[in-house]
Amino acid sequence: MIAIPAPTTVPVTGGNSFPVRRVYCVGRNYRAHAIEMGADPDREAPFFFTKPADAVVPSGTTIAYPPRTGDYQHEIELVVAIGRRGRDIPVERAHEFVFGYAVGLDMTRRDLQIEARKAGRPWDMGKAFDESAPCGEISPAATTGPLTGGAISVTVNGETRQSSDLSLLIWNVAEVIADLSTYVELAPGDLIYTGTPEGVGPVQPGDRLVGRIDGLADLEVTIR
Ligand code: MN
Repeated sequence: MIAIPAPTTVPVTGGNSFPVRRVYCVGRNYRAHAIEMGADPDREAPFFFTKPADAVVPSGTTIAYPPRTGDYQHEIELVVAIGRRGRDIPVERAHEFVFGYAVGLDMTRRDLQIEARKAGRPWDMGKAFDESAPCGEISPAATTGPLTGGAISVTVNGETRQSSDLSLLIWNVAEVIADLSTYVELAPGDLIYTGTPEGVGPVQPGDRLVGRIDGLADLEVTIR
């Protein structure tokens, strides 16, 4: 018999763990990043893509440089962990569905993503590959309160590569939850990577990345 795979879990501050059900990601959710990706920075409706649950790896992981790419890039993002089931969630009630927050990296094979985009093909092989969703410890929303602002950054070998503020999200956390819940029913265990600010760029084997968001636990990964 094939053993049932153990669910992927993310540590929660205080000792619990959060079992991952689904991983959603928002595309182009900061103006300056939309511009650097060659897109219209005007407020277009949010759009979503997904990663498999087992692409999530915890802070402290040494992740392999992935195959089939020559342009493996970091995208630092705020991750929202969902704690309640819901669909068609109103913006005003969206924060009731947040279990907590974490620092995440939407690791991307940029060359494959761009190639797919040009050809009008799915992004999956550029985005949804092994170990492509590092996620730091989850801080419960009960202690952080709603996150509507705060510094977000990532360093590579100590050098700052991306630095912005959560207040610059085009679609904020509540709006992302409300819109996503009109497409799919959200449920406990869902993670939402809310998009990256400008400054995305390549990493190499041996690099050490540290992601930070005010008030949350740091996320640290090394590439081998
Ligand atoms: Mn992203």
